[in-house]
Amino acid sequence: MSKLRFNAILDSQKRSSIPIEEKGRRSEQFGSNVFNEERMLQHLTKDALESVKGAVVSGSKIDRKIADQVAEAMKGWAINMGATHYTHWFQPLTGSTAEKHDAFFDLLPDGRVLEKFGGSQLVQQEPDASSFPHGGIRNTFEARGYTAWDPTSPAFIYGTTLCIPTIFVAYTGEALDNKAPLLRALHAVDHAATAVAKYFDKNVRKVNATLGWEQEYFLIDKSLAHSRPDIILTGRTLVGLNAAKGQQLADHYFGVIPSRVLSFMRHLEVECTKLGIPVKTRHNEVAPNQFELAPVFEEANLAVDHNQLLMDVMEKVAEIHNFKVLFHEKPFEGINGSGKHNNWSLATDTGVNLLSPGSTPMKNLQFLTFFVNTIKAVDTYEELLRSSIASASNDHRLGANEAPPAIMSIFIGKQLSGVLDELEGVSQGKLSPEEKTELKLNVVGKIPEILLDNTDRNRTSPFAFTGNKFEMRGVGSKTNCAKPMTILNTIMAKQLLAFKKEVDNLIASKNLKKDEAIFNVLREYIKTSKKIRFEGDGYSSDWEKEAKKRKLSNKKTTPEALQILTSKESLTLFKSMDVMSEVEVKARQEVELDTYILNIQIEGRIFTELVYNHIMPAALEYQNSLIVNVTGLKDIYGPTHKKFADGQLAIIKLISEHVTELKNKTDAMVDARRKANVMTDSKKKAYAYCDNVRPHFEEIRYHSDKLERLVDDQLWPLTKYRELLFVK
Ligand code: ADP
Ligand code: MG
Repeated sequence: MSKLRFNAILDSQKRSSIPIEEKGRRSEQFGSNVFNEERMLQHLTKDALESVKGAVVSGSKIDRKIADQVAEAMKGWAINMGATHYTHWFQPLTGSTAEKHDAFFDLLPDGRVLEKFGGSQLVQQEPDASSFPHGGIRNTFEARGYTAWDPTSPAFIYGTTLCIPTIFVAYTGEALDNKAPLLRALHAVDHAATAVAKYFDKNVRKVNATLGWEQEYFLIDKSLAHSRPDIILTGRTLVGLNAAKGQQLADHYFGVIPSRVLSFMRHLEVECTKLGIPVKTRHNEVAPNQFELAPVFEEANLAVDHNQLLMDVMEKVAEIHNFKVLFHEKPFEGINGSGKHNNWSLATDTGVNLLSPGSTPMKNLQFLTFFVNTIKAVDTYEELLRSSIASASNDHRLGANEAPPAIMSIFIGKQLSGVLDELEGVSQGKLSPEEKTELKLNVVGKIPEILLDNTDRNRTSPFAFTGNKFEMRGVGSKTNCAKPMTILNTIMAKQLLAFKKEVDNLIASKNLKKDEAIFNVLREYIKTSKKIRFEGDGYSSDWEKEAKKRKLSNKKTTPEALQILTSKESLTLFKSMDVMSEVEVKARQEVELDTYILNIQIEGRIFTELVYNHIMPAALEYQNSLIVNVTGLKDIYGPTHKKFADGQLAIIKLISEHVTELKNKTDAMVDARRKANVMTDSKKKAYAYCDNVRPHFEEIRYHSDKLERLVDDQLWPLTKYRELLFVK
């Protein structure tokens, strides 16, 4: 056994749980490190508070004097809380977060020192951020980029740093991050949904998209993780024989949380509570060492920030508990991977969830309106929505017999399907009084009761209605939720605008009543969006065939899935909704393709290292020991030695065969990589990596795993699955 593997196992066995002290109730601790409304009330003048609130609610600008006041108040509060530094906290296109700390401390020319933080430092910064991915934006335009305060997400203190959530844009205004397009999409959906919600309640002024994510992750002992170059550099195991016991006994799901893990979870929750992340649910997931954490849902921008922050905090807290947290979508072969369900809905400022059926026919018509429009939006833009969750790591789930398929479809349940079928039968134009009564009482009026019974949830559906929200299930565990949320809210905005226009037209031109017009438009939508509705088993091959007939897209790999982003229709959509310009969309596609290429490239390199420096030497060493054994037997028994050496000889032969194949496949992979690397067009290069490089990975793994099965455990250098998983 390699020293590294031996020591890692020894180390991991010594660990015990770290006691976590919690003082007071969590409700009292909640948001104690956040410059939230309560803090603002304490520290800001009335004018300043109104101004910040105005910016949050309607996006109004905050003037410089007010910004100075806010900055002063933030500084006072933060320094009192022990903060020494501040940072603009942003989400570049790397998918993670970025921060560059500056001390409050400053030195004046005359030698005096002071703590400085004014409106200008709060509102805008120009980090030298030229190394962030930009997809060509910064070559074509100015090189400079700046971060700008997002007052809709409150500042918080993490450690001793005041973090100010910001967007990151080029000097010329193009978004260089995931947050700016999200904010624009949220603005678009607010605008469109408010107009539609006003059909039902004149008092609605604002509609917020809501998001409740469910974060799945793996925890691995830190020393064990560090004994595997693949885990450290790619977040997943590239080789490794399945443990004899995996998840087949289903004894991990919702099982007793191991005490070491529970300490980590409690510690994490304490940190999250202080940061105002409303964590609520924790449990064991299906695979060994796999867990999930879910918060109470929030306004989507805040929820996105909180998920990004959570992932950062998790890594830090895991470190303290001697764990490494894995967010990769498929860290281990043979057991489940991880996702991040995105529960999504729309809520009015009057406190109504627009995807929740109500107690009156009118409220239910409102529900049906938003419900059917969502179906229609997803039907029209299914391929675009699929593209928003594409990544090299998520390819291991989508389209690979796990988690939701790469085909988008919507599950709504038998009862709601029944309601939509009945609505489809409504006659065109004006409704007779009988028809109206029937509709109101027996179709629309029955919805709440129906939903209570509607407990059959189809877990194989990528986009399922779950009573009062839609649940998007294909999102990868590593993914920044801003990406799917930007697309989902953009397509919803576009759809609701179209709906409003059609309804208003019918009212004006056909002299229909509002509800008649709404029924008429919904009926057409129900008819024309049928192909996206699917209630059956999303994992089955029959569905793949059926989906093909329905002309639904089925893009199994990232390079394919990303193509749609720059189609004429997509570009027009983003532009018309003011979410992204053509330059911004193209830049994003470029960055996504590059990231894909780089990820596969890194995996390829590590494969070579593992094969040549770890796996082959171990296999050959074992083979040598067998050869010594056989030679020894020959010395003792002469020509009859074969009788005693049959098994050894067979293993010697097998090892040679696998080593040869391992070498051939690895060299072929390197060769394919070389060919891909000279390509300059990122689309072609991504396809080359996808179609010519990646398929070798499985072949290499196959022979490596065969060798792991053959070779003496004492000689095997890489920590095994049974050692990595099953934390105590
Ligand atoms: P599950 O059975 O999938 O765990 P839950 O009903 O417990 O479902 O909710 C899962 C997630 O959905 C939670 O994060 C919750 O906050 C979120 N959620 C509930 N209602 C909404 C809503 N209206 N909008 C967005 N997310 C919501
Ligand atoms: Mg769920």
